[in-house]
Formats: sequence, structure tokens, C-alpha cells
Amino acid sequence: DELVSQIAAGEVVERPASVVRELVDNALDAGATQVAVKLVAGGVRSIVVEDDGAGIEAAELPLALRRHATSKIGSLVDLESVSTMGFRGEALAAIASVADVSLLSRTAGAAHAVRLDARSGELGPAARAVGTSVEVRELFFNTPARRKFLKTDATELAHAVEAVRRHALARPDVGFSVWHEGRLVAQWRAAGLDQRIQDVLGEDFIDGSRSVEHNAGPLALQGRTGLPEMSRARADQQYVFVNGRYVRDRLIAHGIRSAYEDVLHGQRQPAYVLFATIAPELVDVNVHPTKIEVRFRDGRAVHQAVRRAVESALAVSRA
Ligand code: ADP
Ligand code: MG
Repeated sequence: DELVSQIAAGEVVERPASVVRELVDNALDAGATQVAVKLVAGGVRSIVVEDDGAGIEAAELPLALRRHATSKIGSLVDLESVSTMGFRGEALAAIASVADVSLLSRTAGAAHAVRLDARSGELGPAARAVGTSVEVRELFFNTPARRKFLKTDATELAHAVEAVRRHALARPDVGFSVWHEGRLVAQWRAAGLDQRIQDVLGEDFIDGSRSVEHNAGPLALQGRTGLPEMSRARADQQYVFVNGRYVRDRLIAHGIRSAYEDVLHGQRQPAYVLFATIAPELVDVNVHPTKIEVRFRDGRAVHQAVRRAVESALAVSRA
């Protein structure tokens, strides 16, 4: 099972940022309103994610680390909803197979917190407010070949901050902070969506972009799309979220690019932040273990909706 987990880890855990993504995901699933991410050496030495979510019952702590153990498919009704199905309970087990993991958690009803060290299995009382801290130390200590592929601390830190940035855009109602070796490197306070976009991507992103609104066909779209004058230096700022989750999707990216070609005759690399909402039965989110890819039931309709929505946003700005 350890080996199976290590293989799964190969798909889920590429670098510290992948760990950050999974841990913050869990914090948000637990209903956190505040999430703190604390890194040492770009996250290679240590990653701690602290949340004020519901916590994990003491008896459930060892289960959280077990493969396919998930508290998130509670009933048949859940199983039928594709939004919570598939690749479940993989992340913590995968991470624990390639790093030293400890969990510290407290639920609302508990008299005190409980700490579990994954390696030793030691379980004991500890101090903490309601919520969970997950600590991941010495990533890839047992797989030196993969550790060797990690970049400099500064690069790994940048990737980790980017992972939090994506979550921050998806969940403006939650406060996030990122610390590196005791220094606060990013902080986003709970806000509305426009404010959060401004806080994360800058005021000039707002000034240099147009609002996208679309509410017809299979999906609703909302967000901002950049104008040529601001997009150049921001070509890498392309964020697409499907039902609240950051994804990379060629179809949507192509729909956006087509709109730029139609309206602006060029502009290969526009910057954008787009939130797509689509009925869960019209999208498969379990294409990849990290859920970074999706498959739409009707790709053509999605492509067309995206293209039209961005086209009309750009046309308004040109008028
Ligand atoms: P999944 O998120 O797919 O269920 P994970 O391996 O990421 O699988 O997590 C396993 C389980 O551990 C979760 O289902 C949840 O019950 C528990 N868990 C992990 N992190 C947290 C957290 N921050 N707060 C509360 N529960 C958590
Ligand atoms: Mg998870």
C-alpha cells in the first residue's frame, strides 16, 4: 500500500506547491474562513497549513492518512453528484508516502486538540483552537531522484504562492496568508470578488480589463478579460475556474483566444480571470487526480459560449 501511495504521489505531488494546493483544498472543504500557509525553504523543508475549519475527530485522525479514506462521500446522494466523486482520499496518503506528515486538529466539541505523527503513529493531546494544522516536512526525503528535480527555494516559493493565489481568486470570502521563514509574503483579507481580483492581481488588472458576464446556454460566465494595452506583461495571468475550482482547459482557452482574434485581430496571449458555472452533470471533473482538467459533455456549446461572452466584453470596450 505504501508503494501504491508513492505511485499515486507521483501524479498528485510534483513539488511543494502541489502539497499546498491539496492542503488548502482540504482546509476549504472543512469550511475554513481563515487559512495560513507557512513555508520553510520554499516548502521543501516544511509546509504548514493552518485552518479554522471544522477539525477532525480524534478517532478519525489516523483514517485521514489512509488511502481512499475520505469523509466527503457520505451518502449515495453524494456519490451521484459528480462534483464530489472520484480521486477521493488520495491526497494525504500520497503526501505522507513522500514526506513526514503530522496532523494537529480540534473539533468544536472536543476538550482539547489531538496530534498525530504519521511516521510513528503516535497520537496524543495537544493545544490548539478549533481547526486543523497539517505539517509536511522534508518533501521527497525518501525519493532523492525527485527531490533533485526541485528548483531553488525562491522558485518553489513562487509556485506555492501561485497555488494559494488560485484558491484566493476562487474563494474571495476566505482570508489567506502566506509566510516564508517567518516573513509575511502575501495576505488577502476576505472580500467581494472584484475586490479580491484587485487585491490578488492588482488595480491595473482591473483598469486594463473588461467585465465578462454571460448567462445563457449551458454555462454562466463571470470575470474579467484583459485589453491589449495591459496584457503583455501579464500573459501568464490566465485563470479559469469551473464550478469554483481552478482548471486548465484547452477548449476554454481556445474560445477566449478566438474572441481576441475576431475582435482585436491578434493578441495571442490575453490575461483573464473567468469563473464558469455549469451543471455538475455536464462536466466530468475526475479526469485527473488533481482535478486540474475537466471534460465537458458538450464542448462545442461551452466553446461557443466562452467565445461569445468574451467577444461581447471586448466589443463593448471598443465601441
Ligand atoms: P479528500 O480530500 O479527497 O477526502 P484527503 O486525502 O485530501 O482526501 O483528505 C482525507 C480526509 O482527511 C478528508 O476527507 C477529511 O476528512 C480529512 N481532512 C484532511 N484535511 C482536513 C482539514 N484541514 N480539516 C478537516 N478535515 C481534514
Ligand atoms: Mg483533499
